[in-house]
Amino acid sequence: MTQPAVAQIIDGNALSHRLRAEIAQRTAALASRAVRPGLAVILVGDDPASQVYVRNKVKGCHDAGMVSVLEKYDSNLAQAALLDRIEALNCDPRIHGILVQMPLPKHIDPHKVIETIAASKDVDGYSTLSAGELLTGAPGFNPCTPYGCMKLIASTGVALRGKHAVVIGRSNTVGKPMALMLLRENATVTICHSATANLKFHTLQADVVVAAVGRRNTLTADMVKPGAIVIDVGMNRTDAGKLCGDVDFAAVQAVAGFITPVPGGVGPMTITMLLANTLESAERMTRQLDAAPHGPT
Ligand code: NAP
Repeated sequence: MTQPAVAQIIDGNALSHRLRAEIAQRTAALASRAVRPGLAVILVGDDPASQVYVRNKVKGCHDAGMVSVLEKYDSNLAQAALLDRIEALNCDPRIHGILVQMPLPKHIDPHKVIETIAASKDVDGYSTLSAGELLTGAPGFNPCTPYGCMKLIASTGVALRGKHAVVIGRSNTVGKPMALMLLRENATVTICHSATANLKFHTLQADVVVAAVGRRNTLTADMVKPGAIVIDVGMNRTDAGKLCGDVDFAAVQAVAGFITPVPGGVGPMTITMLLANTLESAERMTRQLDAAPHGPT
């Protein structure tokens, strides 16, 4: 790997913009078949951060020419009523993706909710079936945040084959699927977590580091191999309340080859990949209808 004096910034906003333009084009191509990709977004309760997230997801859909149905429910919604609503959306041919915004109120079991979403509409990629598809290499939906990280890495032009990638964090939604996607691209993968004995020992050997911890300054300059690709998934606040990642950006930038900033790195890619999955779902369903014995109805 070459070693520039200062890492090249991987601009998640610019990449996201390019990918969304491609998504809008493919969406327009489907419209000529009278199909509009549809995403149902369900929000239960009035968590302020969740309200912002769902607003951005719905806006992203509309900007790409997709349909987005936002369903808001009081925090006292019964679990059975939510599951019934998901079952109805599973059968709705206008809906190609279903997303239930987390966290849910305490009386609702998130696992039960996720498992109720039809696999063919699980555009968040959180169900056990989607996780199994990723594990076994079957076609399915990749969880949006690690999927976005893969696009950011690909945008550097550095091939992952034979590279050593270290993922810090092993959550079901980020760390573990991230490790599997890196493995799929033939990287040699190490997963680190809170019980890892010597994090620096591992990260110093990494050609690619993905930090997904949720604690600022987890990755400092002395922990990074010169020229490495550093992807910062973390979303934290400085003492002054400014958004920051898990990586000591200013110092690591002087050592790494490529680095994502926070904000403007992984964050914008997450919704973009949700749109990509929703479009993919609509395209798959359209192909299935075309292949059906009597053609599309
Ligand atoms: P999570 O479920 O809390 O997982 C954090 C992981 O970090 C755990 O696996 C934990 O290990 C590990 N960890 C904690 N302390 C550590 C340490 N000192 N050294 C090494 N590993 C350590 O969090 P998450 O949902 O994966 O999210 C991680 C971060 O990414 C958060 O800041 C979150 O806000 C952010 N995020 C951003 C986006 C985006 O779109 N930008 C999307 C999703 C998440 P154990 O398993 O041993 O506890």
